[in-house]
Amino acid sequence: MLHVDIFTLGIFQVHSYLMYDDVTQEAVLIDTGKDPVEILDTLRRKNLDLKLLLYTHTHIDHIEGHQLIREAYPDLPAWVHAADQFWIDALPMQAQMFRMPVPEPPVITGYVEPGHVFSLSHCTIEARFCPGHTPGGVSYYVPEGPFLFTGDTLFAGAIGRTDFPRGDFNTLMHSISTQILTLPDETIVYSGHGPVTTIGNERAGNPYLAPIV
Ligand SMILES: [Zn+2]
Ligand SMILES: [Zn+2]
Repeated sequence: MLHVDIFTLGIFQVHSYLMYDDVTQEAVLIDTGKDPVEILDTLRRKNLDLKLLLYTHTHIDHIEGHQLIREAYPDLPAWVHAADQFWIDALPMQAQMFRMPVPEPPVITGYVEPGHVFSLSHCTIEARFCPGHTPGGVSYYVPEGPFLFTGDTLFAGAIGRTDFPRGDFNTLMHSISTQILTLPDETIVYSGHGPVTTIGNERAGNPYLAPIV
């Protein structure tokens, strides 16, 4: 059975998600918030086999903790959409915006193509390209859950900001309409910040989605 552990880290209270199967022990990490010591402890305590690191996007709060994970898992494949390389290259600017030290850029081993399917022994993870909050935003859909990891594209009762460089409101709405609202109502939505929700809840009650539902 698939499980999702939630780790809320750093001043931005960003969620990192550890999805794992309790039979095969295979695990996938979605985003790396600051100081992810608890994530490493959980991996060891539950004896999990971390296979994959997937980034929803590369705003500083979602990548901040990558170094600790990389030290523990030097060969871990890590993926992001190529268009978000822009935000990795702009890490010094991101750090300056929030008066933070500049982190080392995360090691990326592959660029996610829209529709790419990652296959694990217990589940598949489909990359749904959701630009708008950032140019390379990706939501990851796991039909076996069903789960959707949306990063900062969609939140419970809200949507992602589009006022950062290369953000775009119409693009974000188009992404949500074509890549997210097309999923089943029972899909559990794990977003980058705030409470867990479902597609059905957001379709019915998210005021920002009223023009497109
Ligand atoms: Zn963001
Ligand atoms: Zn965020």
